[in-house]
Order: sequence, then structure tokens, then C-alpha cells
Amino acid sequence: MAEMNEEQRAELMEKLKKMSPEELREFQKKQCIFCQIMGGKMESKKVYEDDLAYAILDINPATAGHILLMPKEHYAIMPQMPEEVVQHLGKVAKKLSLAVLKGLKVQGTTIFVANGLAAGQRAQHFMMHIIPRSEGDSIGLVIPQRQVDEKDLTAIHQAMQEKVNALLGVKKEIVQVETKEEEKSETKEEDKGEVKEEPVEEKEKSLPEEKEIPLGDGQEDVEESEQPEEETEEAPPEEEPDKKEDGTSLDDIAELFK
Ligand code: ZN
Repeated sequence: MAEMNEEQRAELMEKLKKMSPEELREFQKKQCIFCQIMGGKMESKKVYEDDLAYAILDINPATAGHILLMPKEHYAIMPQMPEEVVQHLGKVAKKLSLAVLKGLKVQGTTIFVANGLAAGQRAQHFMMHIIPRSEGDSIGLVIPQRQVDEKDLTAIHQAMQEKVNALLGVKKEIVQVETKEEEKSETKEEDKGEVKEEPVEEKEKSLPEEKEIPLGDGQEDVEESEQPEEETEEAPPEEEPDKKEDGTSLDDIAELFK
């Protein structure tokens, strides 16, 4: 794509805009080296394969045994992926990590995901890096620890909490925030608003009552882990075209790779 001039680029963008989500996904697949590898069109050192996952050795490893674990289906970033694929990759990552520890006799693994160009993502196919680690291996994965004002921390906390509550179904904000995102697809707005409101109110009633009784003896964990399940039952957008899985549109994803 780097060889394109302005005119060709504009032409391509125009073409991409007219594509349906399915056509766009097909287009991305054709451009994707990792889809070609999984389709047997390019060579690789395969480490593992099942119905949903595929793992190969990185040809430019950070350390010896650096594994790239991918969904077989083409997704660019984690928010696009169906929950079962995310879960499955997590399970496989756990086993590959153990295999690396035992098989290569290293002291640790770094499991790393870059979501978006700003995070250092180079390929447009979602992947988890499983990097064998040994003391003194000089891998530059040091997370800085900066000072932050209490005021700034509180502001960030509030801004994030609203989104977390909206996406994981904890408070009333769900309806407000989700509705804003629904505005993009006008036809569905009303339906979704109604479907979501009822269960949210039920939760509001039940949550405070249950939270007053236990004093952190594990019961709360059970409650919390049940909530996302309720949420998935009541979330109809999964049947819609993959355009807005978890509210992420293909436009949002395109933005990440500009
Ligand atoms: Zn791909």
C-alpha cells in the first residue's frame, strides 16, 4: 500500500467505503499475511492449530521460542472478536505459556497484545505474543511507573467507570451511553433501548440489597461473575453484521491503522 499515490489512495478509500462489512472483511483477509499463512499460501513454523486458533513461531523473535497465537478468523483487534474466541485464545495461551516454560526451561513468559498501531501493532491480524523470558534477556518491556495527581486519577476513574459500567452492565449509565452509540444505526435505536432498560432496572433494585449483606466473603464474586452472562443474553447486537461487535465499527478499526 505504501507505493500508492494520492489519487490511487483516494480511489481505494472510496471503494472501501462502499463495501459491506462482509466484503471489507474479505478484502482485509486477502491483504493479510497471517490469513495467507493459515490458508497454506505461505510457509511458517506452526506450533499449534485447532478449530479456532493457530500458533506459529515469530520469524523475527524477541527471544528464541517467541510464539504468535492468532484466531483463525480475521479480526484486527480484540474488541471485534466474539467472546468465545477470546476465551479460547486465553486458554490456549495458558497452555502454550506452560509449554514454553517447561519445553524451553525459561523462567517466565510475557504474554502481550498490541491493540492498534499506537500500541505497537504491526500486523492487521489480532495476535497474542507469547515471549519466553529469562533474567537479563534485555527485552524492553518495562512498564513505566509515573506520578499522577489525585485529581487527575479521580477524573480518569470517573470517565472510565462510566464506560466499564456501560459495557459490563453494572449501573444505569448503560442505557445512556449505549444509546449514544446506537445513534449510528437509527433503525435499531428504539428496539435496543427498550430491550436494555428492563434488565438494567432489575439489577438496580437487586444490587444494593445484595451488597449490604455480605462482607467480602466471596459471595460478591459470584454475583459479579453472573452479571456478564445476563448481559450477553440481553444483548441483541451480536446477530447484526460484524460492523459493531461491542460497539466497535469498522471505521473505528480503520482509524487505528492510519
Ligand atoms: Zn488475517
